[in-house]
Amino acid sequence: MPSEPQPSRRTHVGVVGGGQLARMMGEVAHDVGVHLTVLATSPEDAAVATCDAFVVGESRDAAALARLADAVDVVTFDHELVELAQIVELERRVAVRPSAAALAFAVDKAHQRRHLEAAGIAVPRYVIVGDDDDAAIAAFLAGLDGPPVVKAARGGYDGRGVVFPFDAASTTEAIEAIAGTAVLEERLDLRGELSQVLVRSVTGEVALYPLVTTLQREGMCVETVYPAPEQYANDAAALAMRIAELSGVVGILAVELFVTDAGLLVNEVALRPHNTGHWTIEGAATSQFANHLRAVSGQSLGSTAPLADAAVMVNVVGASEPGSIAAASAVAGAHVHDYGKSWRPKRKLGHVTVVGPDAGAAHVTAWESARAYGTGTREA
Ligand code: ADP
Repeated sequence: MPSEPQPSRRTHVGVVGGGQLARMMGEVAHDVGVHLTVLATSPEDAAVATCDAFVVGESRDAAALARLADAVDVVTFDHELVELAQIVELERRVAVRPSAAALAFAVDKAHQRRHLEAAGIAVPRYVIVGDDDDAAIAAFLAGLDGPPVVKAARGGYDGRGVVFPFDAASTTEAIEAIAGTAVLEERLDLRGELSQVLVRSVTGEVALYPLVTTLQREGMCVETVYPAPEQYANDAAALAMRIAELSGVVGILAVELFVTDAGLLVNEVALRPHNTGHWTIEGAATSQFANHLRAVSGQSLGSTAPLADAAVMVNVVGASEPGSIAAASAVAGAHVHDYGKSWRPKRKLGHVTVVGPDAGAAHVTAWESARAYGTGTREA
């Protein structure tokens, strides 16, 4: 007698971290045939509301990581605040995508700068305190027009860990305040900032999302605009493709770029869904979250084609008083995403996306909605 066909089993993906990125992965997991478990620090974490299951523990707790690994087929990440040695260990228990070797690019800014430069990719001029010798550091500082930018090699995000000193004394202070390795780099006169997001599959297939411009305030992304000026598209795509191959990423890769008079420089890479790709939820045929889960679960990629001529995403960064999500949602054309977090000034609480035929109009609508929601940031 023929046996009953077995329903195909969903791939079980575990996410290290329960923040808004894991929350938005949870919103699409079932659509792409994935069962999602997150490693959350508490049941109040943003992703707990959308995932299938959660394990409570810290991202740097080896025992908690092992509990997650034993429950799933493949592990991926909501953030890069992890201990690489623990992730190497995790790879002995379970598939980890992106791999520990790939993740090193995102976890450690010093590693990132060194490896990108060695591959001939343009980055800001830099030295590494704790690696380069004192004479090299002194020569580097003497060759700058003003104080450098001081960055913690590990543990920073959203501008935390990035300091803009105003003189030699505050430079020394900033370096001493960093517990581990510090990267010092030239302070650039930026014409603008861009982000190129792509996705790479287990078999090495790559799909690029359209390039976006990003606006940063106090180190935090405030808005992204698609389309970006056409003149940068080829260079940005080529840089991101090279970094994808170099790192061996599986899943989403975001490459943040500085636009300078001398052309594009790579500021930073992230190997996970990225704030500058949130617009793809409504603006592209397959969102970055769906494509990340497709990639890490071993599936082929979905189309990254845009669905309209323009899309503007504005982050909601808490002002001193909360606004109204209902009022924000009542703005015609605004897609409001609330991360379910408690209100705190300067905290990323949600975002708003407007997709349409015209970037100028989308910009006006997205900011109207974000202001009603209570964002504390200013428009461009
Ligand atoms: P994070 O890792 O916290 O995102 P980044 O290194 O990306 O920090 O820096 C945050 C922002 O600070 C950048 O987007 C840019 O606006 C500004 N910035 C960083 N480095 C430089 C630099 N070398 N010159 C000028 N501005 C910089």
